[in-house]
Amino acid sequence: MTLRYLTLVILCCLALSSKAQHPPVFEGMTTDSAYITLGDLDINLVNYKYSDQNIHFLAIHDDEDTGVKAAFRYINDNGGTIVDCQYGGVRNYKFIYDEEEYQTDPNSIYTLKGIKAGLQKYGIWDDNVIQELEKAGKTILNTYNPKKAGYIFTLHNNADGGFGISSYLKGYDLESTADSVHINFQMDNDDMLLVTEVAIFNLLKKENVNVVLQSQGAVDDGSLSIYAMQNKIPYINAEVQHGHIDEHLRLIKLGAKVLAQLYPDTGIQEPIPE
Ligand SMILES: [Zn+2]
Repeated sequence: MTLRYLTLVILCCLALSSKAQHPPVFEGMTTDSAYITLGDLDINLVNYKYSDQNIHFLAIHDDEDTGVKAAFRYINDNGGTIVDCQYGGVRNYKFIYDEEEYQTDPNSIYTLKGIKAGLQKYGIWDDNVIQELEKAGKTILNTYNPKKAGYIFTLHNNADGGFGISSYLKGYDLESTADSVHINFQMDNDDMLLVTEVAIFNLLKKENVNVVLQSQGAVDDGSLSIYAMQNKIPYINAEVQHGHIDEHLRLIKLGAKVLAQLYPDTGIQEPIPE
């Protein structure tokens, strides 16, 4: 058994043991992990790498796997990395701390204000728990390292219907969250990008894809896009309906292309052509 083969077997076992929902690693890919303990909940931050160069992705919701699969396909062809947060294949963090149960959305832990609001949304809050969540958010950020990358590129998935690009239009739920919205009515309403920089928005609009420019006045809900805006880190979220893997890959490619053009210093290369 060669060392390379052995490494592959070990990686496959690791992938299986951390729930079979995640795609198997391909040859040449490596992983390393960071860990967070939140009361009785273990969170594994698995960093899948295929060449340290090129682009870096982040997936923070563990029940959203289409994005991870699409990123694997992207990385296989182009190189890059993805940090995937794994904690049991569910959306929310649910944990016991000091004999009390707490719940929150992992996308509400990046600002202090958001952490408290996030806990309150699902139940009780506590100062120690707020501190633990603040540490968890910092660990995720340290692992992904946006300051070094020069941007944040996240991947999300959503359900059919409900939330979608039209939620940001005048008169709808998220109107005040968006400064500008561009809709391609040929696309599924659930498939879209959300960005924080007007330059990124303009180039994606030119590509005629569903895209939202987050408002400077958007409410601080502790989400990563708010953190990015507060810290002036260019942010892209590529988000599609569960299962739309080809569309997710297409949006990832467009996002990568635009970032490569706007921020050559990040080392992102334009995706290889089909
Ligand atoms: Zn999500």
